[in-house]
Amino acid sequence: LANFDPMHAEIISIGDELLLGQTINTNAAWMGEQLHLAGFKLKQVTTISDEREHILSALKDAESRADLVLITGGLGPTKDDITKETLCEYFETRLVLNEQVLVGITAFFTGRGLPMLDVNIKQAELPESAEILENTRGTAMGMWFNKGNKVFVSLPGVPHEMKGMMQEQVLPKIQELFHNEGSYYQMILTVGMGESFIAEKIAEWESRIRAEGLGLAYLPSPGIVKLRVSGPKGLRQKVDEECLKLEALLGDLVFGRNESSLAEAVGKLLRQQNKTLAVAESCTGGYLGHLITTIPGSSDYFKGGVISYSNQLKSEMLKVSGADLEQLGAVSEVVVKQMAVGVRMACGTDYGVATSGVAGPNGGTTEKPVGTVWIAISNASETTAFKFIFGKSRERNIAIAANYALNLLRKRIIGGE
Ligand code: ATP
Ligand code: MG
Repeated sequence: LANFDPMHAEIISIGDELLLGQTINTNAAWMGEQLHLAGFKLKQVTTISDEREHILSALKDAESRADLVLITGGLGPTKDDITKETLCEYFETRLVLNEQVLVGITAFFTGRGLPMLDVNIKQAELPESAEILENTRGTAMGMWFNKGNKVFVSLPGVPHEMKGMMQEQVLPKIQELFHNEGSYYQMILTVGMGESFIAEKIAEWESRIRAEGLGLAYLPSPGIVKLRVSGPKGLRQKVDEECLKLEALLGDLVFGRNESSLAEAVGKLLRQQNKTLAVAESCTGGYLGHLITTIPGSSDYFKGGVISYSNQLKSEMLKVSGADLEQLGAVSEVVVKQMAVGVRMACGTDYGVATSGVAGPNGGTTEKPVGTVWIAISNASETTAFKFIFGKSRERNIAIAANYALNLLRKRIIGGE
């Protein structure tokens, strides 16, 4: 039976490296999404240092609010068992040597031809009252504690170990135990328009679906906005129908769904039409080529390109006119078009794409402020160029320019010219 009063969950992340910003807390982000999909209401994420008092008070606070508490970190072999000792104190139990786990850890080391250290043997000492969750990817085991009708699960901090244990053991077990309905979502991927423009374009649709019990979240990244349409699992069909309506509303701003990427969408189009591509990159410095080659099989349509950062390379390798470079500058319509044509000729491809801009933070002028980027798309029938003025951040400008270049190419191919 679906539970309409969802169970509450919290996450406790243990580790000084998380507090100091040396490690980003990706575990909490991933677990939060998994718990949400499993139908839990997330109440709080707490990050604390590897210290007894902090662990004890975080556990106590979480217990007062949540039905399920997931804990990661503090279980590695170099730590002096502070987490395990503290868990024992909190759950009023003691560490005992688990023979079965010791056999597993021994096999883990001998299998890799590594010596077994005392600290590794200590990893087989586990709280007596906990149910042990096996870790097949490492040596720190997971621990499942029941306290009253609440559940606490402690997992290692190493992300792939934690994920494996969550997927194989923890999520199936909590889904069986807590009868939440769970939720369903689809991600609509858009490029070329900012969050607020999209919000205005779909305002009516958005208020209607909200009134009908669905949710919408905007997830922006440089040049790209992902729209997450969600609802309870029972409304799965409704979510799917509304996504089709949303896609129709947004037209060619939409380049894909869920996990796909812009480079993948462009690759598919090139492959379908049996066309090839080369790039001439100035301000993106190879990032555009990198994005294209993250797609498996991209060698079928991507020939390569030139990172023509200097004017010298622009004229020597791409046949850009020296006089134009001199008079108009590298960041100009005329030059970026010559780059796109030049790379298409030099590489013998159907399409040539070029970028040239002032990525920043220095080098801007009143005429060409930081963030000014020209992008050109060329094929045998036409060469077009577009000017953008992005922001002040170098990293962001490079990312947006590469995404916009992919998008302009995508639109050109869809346009069928
Ligand atoms: P050791 O110092 O031996 O690694 P530890 O107790 O710090 O022991 P864990 O806390 O389990 O071990 O963390 C192991 C590694 O996993 C950390 O070095 C860190 O890189 C990563 N890690 C820990 N917590 C998180 C987290 N919340 N998000 C992402 N990565 C994490
Ligand atoms: Mg740690």
